[in-house]
Amino acid sequence: MKPLHWLALAALAVLLPWLPGLPLFWVSLACQIGISAIIATGLVVLTGVAGMTSFAQASLMGIGAYATAVLSTNYGLSPWLGLPAALMASLVVALAMGAVTLRLSGHYLALGTIAWSVSLYYLYANLDILGRNDGISGIPPLSIAGWRLIDIRASAVVIGLGLVGAMLTTRHLLDSRWGRAMRALRGGAVAAASVGVELGQARMLAFVYAAVLAGFAGWLFAHLQRAVNPTPFGLVAGIQYLLMAVVGGAAHLPGALLGAILVVLVNNALQDWLPHLVGPGVNAETVVFGLALVLMLQAAPTGLWPLLARKSKPRHHDVTAAALPRTLMPAQGGVALQAINLQRRFGGLVAVADLSFTLYQGELLGLIGPNGAGKSTSFNLLSGVTQPNHGRVELGGRDMTGSSPQDMARCGIARSFQHAKLVQSLTVIENVALGTHLRGAASPVAAVLRRDRAEEARIFAEAAIQLERCGLADLADASATELALGQQRIVEIARALAAGPSVLLLDEPAAGLRHAEKQALAALLRQLRAEGMAILLVEHDMEFVMSLADRLVVMDFGTVIAEGRPQDVRRNPAVIEAYLGGVA
Ligand code: ADP
Ligand code: MG
Repeated sequence: MKPLHWLALAALAVLLPWLPGLPLFWVSLACQIGISAIIATGLVVLTGVAGMTSFAQASLMGIGAYATAVLSTNYGLSPWLGLPAALMASLVVALAMGAVTLRLSGHYLALGTIAWSVSLYYLYANLDILGRNDGISGIPPLSIAGWRLIDIRASAVVIGLGLVGAMLTTRHLLDSRWGRAMRALRGGAVAAASVGVELGQARMLAFVYAAVLAGFAGWLFAHLQRAVNPTPFGLVAGIQYLLMAVVGGAAHLPGALLGAILVVLVNNALQDWLPHLVGPGVNAETVVFGLALVLMLQAAPTGLWPLLARKSKPRHHDVTAAALPRTLMPAQGGVALQAINLQRRFGGLVAVADLSFTLYQGELLGLIGPNGAGKSTSFNLLSGVTQPNHGRVELGGRDMTGSSPQDMARCGIARSFQHAKLVQSLTVIENVALGTHLRGAASPVAAVLRRDRAEEARIFAEAAIQLERCGLADLADASATELALGQQRIVEIARALAAGPSVLLLDEPAAGLRHAEKQALAALLRQLRAEGMAILLVEHDMEFVMSLADRLVVMDFGTVIAEGRPQDVRRNPAVIEAYLGGVA
């Protein structure tokens, strides 16, 4: 959305509540929707984008609400100063919660957040300073220049502006270097790690950001209701917020608002009608919501918003921005990468038995061998994805054994995967931009405040240049899922190049390409070699690899059975026997 659209939304939030003849009951519903939508916006980032389920958002809302309630009633702090305190409190609590919980994944993480929700509720209901079950009342309202915002319509304006602000900062965050990192967490974690994204940091960022938005909603809630008690911060509320995000379309920002509207309105209607059906005091809404959630996930698992949304138009990608910083290419001919007696077992299976070779800067080394010879496992060992049982990996003479993929990336390795690992929710150019992660420096705070535009322009210029180089400029704005498998592997090369590496590991990049595409790829690899890149190439197409490689290393059953110039290897009896047998 353009800045003008955001302004229009803000104007709507200011004016709409004062519409003549608008029933106050509707305004009060709108307030409830607005506060819920702020929390659901956090869940869009946490659950929809980063793929982590949290039932604890209502509890985190409680942190913000109680923080400002205690400070303004016990210590007479102005509500406006309560805002940073509420945000800070939810941030600190989320950091602590995340530190012990985020190592869990999937259902275990969800269970962990349920445990937190129950514990925090217990805390709210039992701490004297928080007023136990009675809570805290007499919280001062917000006031602007002496005007106390007590009118429900004034509250609606504040909440509306708060929601527009929350959506704007979230849009900014998602459209940034860290936003791409978080979006990669769902299904693209291995690829993101290979270009240096610290996954733990990205997960923590999503968790903390969602918590801060919940804390913000809690602050609004406390000063507009002017009383807090534990009930709205319990597990049932937590389930409802999650339901809103899922119903609306957890991966889409407008879905948060749509989901909040639906759930609040349906909840309201149910509270009117259900007592007539099942008798008073049964609280059957939870049952209905549970059923609704299940049916919803069956009928439209991605939520309602994608059914309503239009496809976005392609953007223009400027390639004129200044280049991103990069490390200098090491001198030609020096040792780039060395495998020394590498071994890797999977249970009883020895995938790599004994692998040693040296790759020089400015060299294109082919790694070949029949299926199951251990080539892809070797790639994983060399790029830190898996660790060897024995042996060493050296990069430019430095021992890198035991390093993480991120450390390997930091030291100049970039790779593609045999089974392409593009982030499905990113466009092609965004996937390539993810490759520049380590070359950018903008923090999440800079992204939220939109101080990262100059760097983003440079990142996208770099991504566009690499795509162009790989011959895929036309597909920049396509979704990664639309591409043929062969093209996906080429996008992986562009992503690897965007990292500005000195060593490039390519696992079967030519598989699935047409003849002309293979020739273009060969030309690109020759050019990269001429620039001094060290390239390790796994390839099944013998003609392709023989015509390109300076040297070949041939593997079979996890060991090197031959090594040398292509024309010599071709005649090696061991190779013919093991590998080319049928062909030769
Ligand atoms: P290549 O790439 O040369 O075809 P791979 O390195 O993919 O060979 O596989 C080598 C052997 O290791 C195969 O027998 C494969 O089944 C096995 N292997 C690879 N990865 C794993 C894993 N994660 N767990 C168990 N076995 C594996
Ligand atoms: Mg393989």
